[in-house]
Amino acid sequence: MSQANTFDAIVIGSGISGGWAAKELCEKGLKTLVLERGRNVEHKKDYPTMVSNPWDMPHRNQIPLADRLENPVVNRCYAFKEDTEHFFVKDSEHPYLQEKPFDWVRGYQVGGKSLIWARQTQRWSKYDFEGPGRDGFAVDWPIRYDDIAPWYSYVERFVGVSGNYDGVETLPDGEFLPAWEMNCVEKEIRDRILASYQDRHVMIGRCAHLTQPQEHHLKMGRGQCMARNQCYRGCPFGAYFSSNAATLPAAAATGNLTIRPDSVVHSIIYDDKEEKVTGVRVVDRETKSVSEYFAKVIFLNASALNSNLILLNSTSNRFPNGLGNDSGILGKYVAFHNYRGNISASFEGWEDKYYFGRRPTAVMMPNFRNVKKQEMDFLRGYMTFYTAGRGGWGGRRDLPFGADFKEQNSVPGPWHVFMMMQGETIPKESNFVSLSPNEKDAWGIPLLQVNVDYDDNDEKILKDFFEQGSEMLSKAGCKDIRTSDSKQAPGLDIHEMGGVRMGRDPESSLLNGWNQMHACKNVFVTDGACMTSTGTQNPSITYMALTARAADYAVKQLKAGNI
Ligand SMILES: Cc1cc2nc3c(=O)[nH]c(=O)nc-3n(C[C@H](O)[C@H](O)[C@H](O)COP(=O)(O)OP(=O)(O)OC[C@H]3O[C@@H](n4cnc5c(N)ncnc54)[C@H](O)[C@@H]3O)c2cc1C
Repeated sequence: MSQANTFDAIVIGSGISGGWAAKELCEKGLKTLVLERGRNVEHKKDYPTMVSNPWDMPHRNQIPLADRLENPVVNRCYAFKEDTEHFFVKDSEHPYLQEKPFDWVRGYQVGGKSLIWARQTQRWSKYDFEGPGRDGFAVDWPIRYDDIAPWYSYVERFVGVSGNYDGVETLPDGEFLPAWEMNCVEKEIRDRILASYQDRHVMIGRCAHLTQPQEHHLKMGRGQCMARNQCYRGCPFGAYFSSNAATLPAAAATGNLTIRPDSVVHSIIYDDKEEKVTGVRVVDRETKSVSEYFAKVIFLNASALNSNLILLNSTSNRFPNGLGNDSGILGKYVAFHNYRGNISASFEGWEDKYYFGRRPTAVMMPNFRNVKKQEMDFLRGYMTFYTAGRGGWGGRRDLPFGADFKEQNSVPGPWHVFMMMQGETIPKESNFVSLSPNEKDAWGIPLLQVNVDYDDNDEKILKDFFEQGSEMLSKAGCKDIRTSDSKQAPGLDIHEMGGVRMGRDPESSLLNGWNQMHACKNVFVTDGACMTSTGTQNPSITYMALTARAADYAVKQLKAGNI
């Protein structure tokens, strides 16, 4: 155990949750090593397309057919284009086994998927934390909204989240920068929906964009969002939240951070003699050489399914079935968000109105099903999003060339409306991940086998969304309302969660209410793997709040000599 390889804390992964762990642990004085399997990505310097024009790109921002065929999974992700492909994992380089169809979208680099997320951030409400216990699925959450609320505030202030103070119980307000605005048609639809239903709320989306940077954002070199909506390329203004623009620089500023890219974590080391976790085993991405790093406390933030993989691969005499896995449930109760339902419609009128810029958020409606009690023939519910926009610039290609052609093609077309759902799915033992007994990747790590599927509950939720969404749009005055089931596989939502869930009882959960392993007190898992249920909200702001809360607890426990 050399001095050079020994730290106070190790964080595995540098994405959204790992960046927060690094910042908090470093700021609290711990010498912290961040191990990241991907290459280094430095803010701005390594965003090669951040100000490119379409004509600067060899294929005008399209992925060539041969690449698409070679990488069918990532190619299904809407954000995977020529300008962003360098931030996505290619299927051909990182295989996994789909026992059932599952689109696993990953970003392996310093910053992880924080560079390519869509930045929508909504708090959970008290009803989401009470759901499993009340309705009798999964296990009861060991925490409640009040436990996490101050941590939501803490992370929101640093992140910079735009939103309105809507005062809605099912989607609590946070610490907001000025909100984006709905356009005229979105407002009209909102007003008509609110006039027709007592149980629904409509609000502008909350998202991690600096609409009015505060002193502490500016000091970090982060600036105003320009509504370019080219965020997936990396933002030259640092105007949306990413690890690269925000948490990692904050961690580095303390002088306590060591970050080691190209370090593929193979497993966590449990010392059978010392009866505790002592460090982490790493395979170098390039050379494949193996090394070990040691620390008093480990934060596992490799993203939900990779954290499952690392724990399953961390075997010892004490834990032959994976670290902390006395109960045998490691890898089980994986869940995700059901994104299958889409509705499109047209809207007549408002032809003299347009809107400014490329707003990076949509209108949203918090879940209104089974909120306070079980009332439908399905468990839980869904959040609804909609947008209205004008299409058809350049739509009149039927006209002969000339002045008429030019004039007709320089006006926007009619308004169209798009609505989509984000449905909660129920964590089940039969939705699980495991390790392949015989197939390994290029680093000698067993391939992950994914066994996750929809169920009857998801079908019922989808049906309800189609009925309710169509009815709402119809009452709002929309025409040509069409529903469509994308039939997309689980995973493409990119909100996979669970497998290492929190709970009160070590018999039925891996982590306690502080994200601390019941069986290994110096290991904390604070990415999506820890989630007991999925809620209907975009999950990352909850991972951030849980991480900051767990880091605070871990440091206090460390100082008290309890771990
Ligand atoms: C297109 C897109 C849109 C999205 N939109 C939203 C949204 O609007 N709102 C929202 O809340 N969420 C959204 N998400 C999801 C969001 O990106 C994730 O929830 C979030 O990034 C998860 O954070 P994380 O820290 O768990 O994982 P990541 O950010 O993926 O970071 C994990 C890191 O761990 C590293 N790693 C993995 N395995 C190892 C290993 N063995 N050794 C060392 N390092 C390892 C990875 O390389 C990566 O850098 C979106 C994602 C995508 C791709």
